Amino acid sequence: VKISTSSKDYPVFIGSGAIHQLNKFLLTDMPGITNISIIVDTAVADLYLEHFQSALSGFELSVCKVPSGEQAKTFDVYYEVMSFLLAEKLDRKSLILALGGGAIGDLAGFVAATYMRGIRFIQVPTTILAHDSAVGGKVAINHPKGKNMIGAFHQPEAVFYDLEFLASLPLKEKRSGFAEVIKHGLIHDILFYAHLRDRLHSLTDLSTADLEAFLQRGIEIKGEFVSVDETEQGIRAYLNFGHTLGHAIEAEMGYGGWTHGESVAVGMIFALYLSQRKLDLSFNIDDFKKWLTLLGYETTIPKNVDHKNLLERMKQDKKSIGQKVNFILLKEIGNPEIHEVSDEEILEELARF
Ligand code: NAD
Ligand code: ZN
Repeated sequence: VKISTSSKDYPVFIGSGAIHQLNKFLLTDMPGITNISIIVDTAVADLYLEHFQSALSGFELSVCKVPSGEQAKTFDVYYEVMSFLLAEKLDRKSLILALGGGAIGDLAGFVAATYMRGIRFIQVPTTILAHDSAVGGKVAINHPKGKNMIGAFHQPEAVFYDLEFLASLPLKEKRSGFAEVIKHGLIHDILFYAHLRDRLHSLTDLSTADLEAFLQRGIEIKGEFVSVDETEQGIRAYLNFGHTLGHAIEAEMGYGGWTHGESVAVGMIFALYLSQRKLDLSFNIDDFKKWLTLLGYETTIPKNVDHKNLLERMKQDKKSIGQKVNFILLKEIGNPEIHEVSDEEILEELARF
């Protein structure tokens, strides 16, 4: 898939064995690279670092291992990685390879965006969720006051998405990633959504061909939004469908309980109800919930979560302008719009939900 943005065009290679294209790409498309640092989390390093390094030859490589998950997206880890790169004498002609899920891509991308005012990096995603996060150039670390609060737009030189990495992914992580695939269908492509609804009955028993096709279409859709609106002045915000409530649930549960995608799935159901009520969306939400249940998702917010707290979280979300909460709603499947929703309406809908 080719991604075209106003700041950069770059390829996404998708498929089993995709990392074996990387060496050739470095030699032919990126001449003059001095040294390369791989940034990887410890869990992914144990599984794949040796295999990944064996696909690279003829380069001076260093490896910087960081904790896995959100623990990677902290000031402390950012500082440690910067110190590592300085010690390894990376310069402006060096390259960073981000090997891991979305957390590693976000951290390594933010490091690349800011090290010596910006050096090149390549995303090597290893999760399903990262079909989304590795494309589009949003990179960030977290602040205790909020997720992704310190970041930049910095596009990678390329993305090498080797589907062989996905075999070891725990079911919960598969579920997290597939929520974004479903989201891509709902906001942009009714036929793709219908195809997913038809073909996807289990997240454990999926053919490689289907998986590849689903992820490729998800990446194409993400690419379409990003190419029109790289820095989220307008329609890129549609990618936040399901995320207004999703982020609030994730935060309220302390980022430990539900994964990002599990929270977004519930956020999407909520946004669909709001869409029905406010925009007359015609869509069988009961059927959608049955499907999500079959795939192992929760379909409503946990009982112990306080609605007022959720509302406060939604108001703090940086995607809300001022104090009003903005939701991405659907006029029809594939046709999103941004809408301000009042506190009263949100609380009423939460109560019904
Ligand atoms: P992650 O990187 O934390 O990976 C999830 C877990 O899976 C980790 O414990 C990791 O060690 C493990 N793992 C990774 N690859 C594996 C593999 N192949 N086999 C077994 N285990 C593996 O998280 P994620 O779910 O990929 O991404 C979530 C992050 O992405 C969040 O920080 C979120 O903010 C960010 N995100 C960014 C964007 C963006 O546009 N930049 C978009 C969506 C999400
Ligand atoms: Zn998301």
